[in-house]
Amino acid sequence: MAGFLKSLFSAGQSLQLDPGAWAEALALPVFDGLAADDAARLRELAGRLLADKTFSGAAGHAVDAAMATRIAAFAALPVLNLGYDWYKGWSEVIVYPAEFVPEREIVDDYGIVHRVRQPLSGEAWEGGPLVLSWDDVLYSGGGQGYNVVIHEFAHKLDMKNGAVDGLPPLHSGLAVADWAAAFGQAYADFCRRVDAGEETAIDPYASESPAEFFAVLSECFFEMPDVLADDYPALYERLRRFYKQDPLSRLESSYDTATT
Ligand SMILES: [Zn+2]
Repeated sequence: MAGFLKSLFSAGQSLQLDPGAWAEALALPVFDGLAADDAARLRELAGRLLADKTFSGAAGHAVDAAMATRIAAFAALPVLNLGYDWYKGWSEVIVYPAEFVPEREIVDDYGIVHRVRQPLSGEAWEGGPLVLSWDDVLYSGGGQGYNVVIHEFAHKLDMKNGAVDGLPPLHSGLAVADWAAAFGQAYADFCRRVDAGEETAIDPYASESPAEFFAVLSECFFEMPDVLADDYPALYERLRRFYKQDPLSRLESSYDTATT
């Protein structure tokens, strides 16, 4: 497996923050309303990520400093007030040019092995690499609810205490029972809405599992906090306390600036 992987991927390299790409990233809607001191801390965290992780291109894709800078800008946002240590313990970001189709073997209840090929926009391995489609990175940040980088890094936060189950390690002021009850109730409601064929502003992929629910809601929390706060105010509040930031007030402050 290792030899096979090596032949597919370019060697991982350390890349430095590209100031032009940084300015371009920070102009995206997801960063609207970010105060100057927050933006400075975001840049410092992005710099740490670039120094700590190697970036490899897959399927012939060449990752340059500008691409890595945009990825690092999105990745730094969830840990803006949590600190960089949340991203320690693994070392590689792999970037495909577009959606990728890994071949996996799945054993069913009867012991029969199936080869499954399913296109992915990203994936996060426990203790291992974080994988992204560059096309999907480019679709991210527009304030439409979609951000593959935040999604995969949210899985990394979730994995910090072992199981990928939608329950990341909680800091003081957040109780596991309360988190489980709030998320459990909202997840059941969301699955019911998706099953009923309702058009949801939140990506229906969130109904896949509690882990995907947490990752997709984290995307919404940063990319369209107003929609999340309307649909699931109790979850917005828990995510605000977990991430220790309030994207909704940033968004509202950016509206105020826009109208004056
Ligand atoms: Zn996911």
